[in-house]
Amino acid sequence: MRLPMTVSRAGLPERVTIYEVGPRDGLQNEKSIVPAAVKTEFIERLAGAGLEWIETTSFVHPKWVPQLADAADVLAGLGESGRLATRPVLVPNERGMDRALESGVGAIAIFGSATETFAQKNLGRSVAESIEMFAPVVARAKDAGMWVRAYISMCFGDPWEGEVPIGQVVEVSKQLMDLGADALSIGDTIGVGTAGHVAALLEGLDAAGIGPQVVGVHFHDTYGQALANTLEALRCGVTVVDASTGGLGGCPYAKSATGNLATEDLVWALAGLGIETGVDLDALVATSVWMAEQLGRPSPSRVVRALSGPA
Ligand code: MG
Repeated sequence: MRLPMTVSRAGLPERVTIYEVGPRDGLQNEKSIVPAAVKTEFIERLAGAGLEWIETTSFVHPKWVPQLADAADVLAGLGESGRLATRPVLVPNERGMDRALESGVGAIAIFGSATETFAQKNLGRSVAESIEMFAPVVARAKDAGMWVRAYISMCFGDPWEGEVPIGQVVEVSKQLMDLGADALSIGDTIGVGTAGHVAALLEGLDAAGIGPQVVGVHFHDTYGQALANTLEALRCGVTVVDASTGGLGGCPYAKSATGNLATEDLVWALAGLGIETGVDLDALVATSVWMAEQLGRPSPSRVVRALSGPA
């Protein structure tokens, strides 16, 4: 069985846009350096499987993320397609923005934090200082005609601070969107969120003028909730879902497992509901099997394992 039986239900979107984060969010957690040519081929295979939106790499300082130090080489390998508005690159600060402008990318993503502790650990500054840091980045991106996404992490819980109040997430989200971002991605960085919490946060954002049409959801499967939370978000009007092909960045065999929702698991669930994604699941699974060979270990995606194992 290569696809589930399709049973459509009311109250869900006809089409969902998958925002693929494997090449950036997935690979950045890999310890052994993947050659730039393999990354380029990975991105091209993902596009060939029908994924339209692919975050390709990051212009964060190579000292912090050595895996993505070859961002310029990966983009050079992609050529024209790397400059599409549907191929965002993560940009942390003005130096990263200089590199984004040099490489001619058509879209960027900034990454804020809902909590003070994670802002300090990830960005080395307070939430307010990080908003100040992002302001000129977004302004320059908009001047250059780029599309801008704002990530916000630790939206459902923080490993140091514990529970994160919904009002706090809404307030930081508003500050990020007020900079001029086109879209927001709410991240459950440690995967602790549950469906009711998802609905309540989306309601809070909507009430603050950030409607589900500009919100993407970024769930981690650490506690097995990613797909349930995704379906709840779709019922609330969200149509953009972040996922990582093969569950990259979520290796169950590594202690650093972050548990990104696997794109194949998402495509399987949406196909069963008759929701269009434009993705060829067989081509995607073949890409994950190929990538797993490059990395030297199997994909943690259940759908990849089910579809690539012995018949
Ligand atoms: Mg992630």
